[in-house]
Amino acid sequence: MTAHAPIPFNDLRAAFAGRRDELLAAAARVLESGWYILGAEVAAFEAEFAAWCGPVGGSVGCVGVNSGTDALLLALRALQIGPGDEVITVSHTAVATVSAIVLAGATPVLVDIDPASYTMDPAAAAAAITPHTRAIIAVHLYGRPAVLQPLLELAATHKLRLIEDCAQAHGATIDGRPVGTIGDVGCFSFYPTKNLGALGDGGAVISTDAELLQRVRLLREYGWTPAARYVSQVAGMNSRLDELQAALLRVKLTHLAADNEARRALAALYRARLPTELVAPQEAPGTRHVYHLFVVRAAAPAQREQLRAGLAEQEIGTAVHYPVPIHLQPGYAPLVRVAGSLRHTEAAAQTILSLPLYPTLAPAQVERVAAALAALLRAP
Ligand SMILES: *Cc1c(COP(=O)(O)O)cnc(C)c1O
Repeated sequence: MTAHAPIPFNDLRAAFAGRRDELLAAAARVLESGWYILGAEVAAFEAEFAAWCGPVGGSVGCVGVNSGTDALLLALRALQIGPGDEVITVSHTAVATVSAIVLAGATPVLVDIDPASYTMDPAAAAAAITPHTRAIIAVHLYGRPAVLQPLLELAATHKLRLIEDCAQAHGATIDGRPVGTIGDVGCFSFYPTKNLGALGDGGAVISTDAELLQRVRLLREYGWTPAARYVSQVAGMNSRLDELQAALLRVKLTHLAADNEARRALAALYRARLPTELVAPQEAPGTRHVYHLFVVRAAAPAQREQLRAGLAEQEIGTAVHYPVPIHLQPGYAPLVRVAGSLRHTEAAAQTILSLPLYPTLAPAQVERVAAALAALLRAP
């Protein structure tokens, strides 16, 4: 029994409540406009998000799409990557990263992570390159920028494309450069729990390559151009971001910098308070971590389970991102090629634990989670 209120793993109702009037006004504007697909709101959001991601006065462009999965799929298709091609990525990621490669018709080649950062081990990527390799998808997992410099060098040497999966890292930077603008193309998800979340599905592709973005634009609506609707220039699909989500995202975007700051402050508090037995996430020098998730590491699988159960008893929500690496999932195991040992990936899946962290979480709640973990670790 506990005298405290529960601490949910996430709280999207609180996030809505804090922006209620602005969001309702934006929704009303769209509903009353009579225009619901690819209109002024999507165009404005694309311009605003590109400006937010891009260097000042820069040349970053943005195309809004239906989801983060589609952002990756359309980026791959726009780069003409498909059957017979290999795309290197990690097994320790949201399944969407790998599902996009499969949907494009290419073969996912999965490599290990660096166990300290949970992001791609560049040496493992280098070892996985074959004559069929066309691209690398680096995932900025949990909001921590992946190490891109060695991947950029590999891409240059072997004529590969570097795609950044930024679905968990809106606003993260490397040497001051926003993620998504460093490789050839950046792919974002606006799934409701992401740092920039819609109230439904959404995604975006950003790039400084205007031609690439033009191909994404064609592909997202049946291959049509604005000048010639109903006549497909290429075989496309329907992956439109809708006006309602774009309008809501425009509101959320004005708060993204402050929300990321709130996440960073809570992460710093966790680091100061967590028992030393747990490995806390760190920010690499020269980078900015935006803490989509706050993932700690237990000493052993049994300890992770003990902590999860103990916190659940005190009504503190936790999660595991992700419990089963993709190369071990029944739906994907037959479709992927594993390159090298994935021992760090498999070990992480058994010992990581995601703690509550979101902008509306109170510092006192972080203190309580940390104290609960310390007490559980002291218990026999
Ligand atoms: C959420 C997520 C995606 C996919 O986004 P959807 O909008 O759910 O399709 C892709 N990659 C990563 C790393 C994600 O976390």
